[in-house]
Amino acid sequence: MEPLVWSLSIHLIQSTNGTQLSTQNSELRTLLAGTLFIVATPIGNLEDITLRALKVLGQVDVIACEDTRHTRKLLAHYQISKPLISYHEHNESERAEQLLKRLLAGESVALVSDAGTPSISDPGYRLIREAARRQIKVSPIPGPSAAIAALAGAGLPTDSFTFAGFLPSRRGARRARLSMLKRLDTTLVFYEAPHRIRTVLAELKEELGDRDCVVARELTKIHEEFIRGRLSEIQGLVQPRGEFVIILSPGALDLAEPRHEAQSSSILEAVETQTKAGMTRKEALKHVARARGLSKSEAYRLLIKEEAELE
Ligand code: SAM
Repeated sequence: MEPLVWSLSIHLIQSTNGTQLSTQNSELRTLLAGTLFIVATPIGNLEDITLRALKVLGQVDVIACEDTRHTRKLLAHYQISKPLISYHEHNESERAEQLLKRLLAGESVALVSDAGTPSISDPGYRLIREAARRQIKVSPIPGPSAAIAALAGAGLPTDSFTFAGFLPSRRGARRARLSMLKRLDTTLVFYEAPHRIRTVLAELKEELGDRDCVVARELTKIHEEFIRGRLSEIQGLVQPRGEFVIILSPGALDLAEPRHEAQSSSILEAVETQTKAGMTRKEALKHVARARGLSKSEAYRLLIKEEAELE
């Protein structure tokens, strides 16, 4: 269905004949019928919206959004006028049922959030799960997400990352989550609110060690900034204003240490260092293999060889 939608959309833009345009509009609406579109919208800069997102928003029967006033501003900027229905964390289950009924009756629905990609630390997944369960077509329209924008500009390893979203608001639950995340051998990505950013940076240092960190603030906006350094270095530099993404380097990765030094120890020593730091032998081997650009089987072969030489 996608290529058809695309070619119709292109015709829509190119057409100068009013009659032709309205025939094509109705054809396009038929093609969109019964589809739930998950539409990403800007995270600050209104120009960060795809052509496809604008076409879909202009053609669906209804747009489900968190805050109707907020979404109305975005739509007004692009001269799109559509019925809006509020869908937020407090009315999610009741509204999901209403939207599913409309989808099953053949209407098309676009789901947007206040910013970024719906269902990423935003309402959406319940509706999407139920739509999929009822064989309703779900179609994401990709675009901005603060986590990916922050990662893209962070300059920390991106081969494997864990999106941890917002940490729990209760201190005890937060500490417990951090001690679980500490075991992961990936870059970590957090969303955080301004009133808690400093507390959380301090707790990250206490629980996870003085890792390399990038705080991405006010992405795509006038005061966009990336604050980079060890957790201990940047704590005092972050002004608690605006919106933040925190990116932390993987645990044992020491970016300040030259690569040849990091690799001068034997595989056995490196694995022992990691197991002493709390990893299982299997996790440690995987970690060391990755850090040295070896396959797991190759790292295992070298480990066994080193152990045999010691006996
Ligand atoms: N669904 C959104 C997305 O895809 O990015 C995230 C929504 S979540 C409720 C809002 C959080 O995302 C903010 O508290 C902040 O941590 C992060 N965020 C959103 N916009 C941002 C921006 N322009 N700069 C930095 N962080 C941002």
